[in-house]
Amino acid sequence: PDVLLEVDNLHVSFKTFGGEVKAVRGVSFTLREGETLAIVGESGCGKSVTARSMMRLLPEHSASIRQGSIRFKGQELTGLSEKQMRELRGSEISMIFQDAMTALNPTITIGEQIMEGIIRHRKISRAEARKQAIEMLGLVGITSPETRLKQHLHEFSGGMRQRIMIAMAAVCSPSVLIADEPTTALDVTIQAQIIDLFRMLQEKTGVAIIIITHDLGVVANMADRVNVMYAGEIVESGTVDELFRHPQHPYTKGLLASMPRLDTDRSKPLTPIPGTPPDLFAPPRGCAFAARCSNAMEVCGAHAPERTAHSATHSSACWLHDPRAKQVFQPPIASN
Ligand code: SF4
Ligand code: MG
Repeated sequence: PDVLLEVDNLHVSFKTFGGEVKAVRGVSFTLREGETLAIVGESGCGKSVTARSMMRLLPEHSASIRQGSIRFKGQELTGLSEKQMRELRGSEISMIFQDAMTALNPTITIGEQIMEGIIRHRKISRAEARKQAIEMLGLVGITSPETRLKQHLHEFSGGMRQRIMIAMAAVCSPSVLIADEPTTALDVTIQAQIIDLFRMLQEKTGVAIIIITHDLGVVANMADRVNVMYAGEIVESGTVDELFRHPQHPYTKGLLASMPRLDTDRSKPLTPIPGTPPDLFAPPRGCAFAARCSNAMEVCGAHAPERTAHSATHSSACWLHDPRAKQVFQPPIASN
């Protein structure tokens, strides 16, 4: 399948009173037609910032893309005007958020809202837009969509609101859906239904999905490939199978040991990763995970690891797997 989206060496910073926070530091990945790519990591790792950069939905006054490129179907997005971006948003790339009540307008009916979205991008009549809105609401599992169209967001349950947000995002048949923690606020049963809905939508329309989550259960149930982010960088990427069966980076292994998953024995005790992520005002010179890593060696603190390939689809950035580390290899400095 063709490459839809290509992010290359992306750096994003935030200006704060305390100085510049380097939230995303050299992130690169591709998204192909029809696939589901997960970006997983703890809160503050830069996964949401990466997603918002692609939509250019970062706070304008404080955030800036410092370096790198984001190409969509070959077109560079970082230099586009807000007007050009507005044409792409919703029609080519759509975003789904954690909370529909803040992402959508609770004061107008959901019908008006979906129709507005359609009419903004397509030159069609209101009657035709209404027909499409009804069809789409039916597709995402809203029963009696003709009646529901006249209702407001607060008249729906949390799961139904997510369905409505997905309907809005998908109604103009975008090639890419970016979903930022779309199931985090929902209970497990509803979560599974929303994941099924994404799958069905992808089967029906071929849309490519980027799912941003901290939940490895969601990753296992939804994604084809995964990028693991830590402190603004991708530390490991691979297929779901490679990541879950043969994790290579100590951080990925730590995540797997510390997070409850839908597909594993929930009675097994979870081991949290000790310590906290580094300060991104002044990111460490070497490996960003070194302070928390039980495998850390002297080289880790001095030099940032580069990516090493484990297969055509699997790579990680860790000195443990880099043959070049041997030249500067030192005995472990941390133990447990
Ligand atoms: Fe641990 Fe070193 Fe690998 Fe970083 S590079 S994850 S500190 S072993
Ligand atoms: Mg987030």
